[in-house]
Amino acid sequence: MSVLYPSDRTEFWAPKNLDCFYCGKQIGGLAVFWKSQETLVLHPDCASQLAVHLIADSREAQLAAVPHFINRARRIVEYHAERRHKLLTAEGVNNE
Ligand SMILES: [Zn+2]
Repeated sequence: MSVLYPSDRTEFWAPKNLDCFYCGKQIGGLAVFWKSQETLVLHPDCASQLAVHLIADSREAQLAAVPHFINRARRIVEYHAERRHKLLTAEGVNNE
């Protein structure tokens, strides 16, 4: 991953299409670009947002493969559902 400065845009290696991979809008200033099988070009803020989502999805996928985590996540969901039910019952709110 690298930063594409406006002064780099005429370089032979610079991507010619500057439509942001994340939001689809044209990039007018600094751009972040990634070159692998394809070249991805993004606004700096869009690169940050995409990175956060990728990290979160990666972490979720890693944890989903661990049986201990799945059981723990299920217990947390059950705990909060039971707690919510008790609170609603105590407050006399009909949640059914
Ligand atoms: Zn963008």
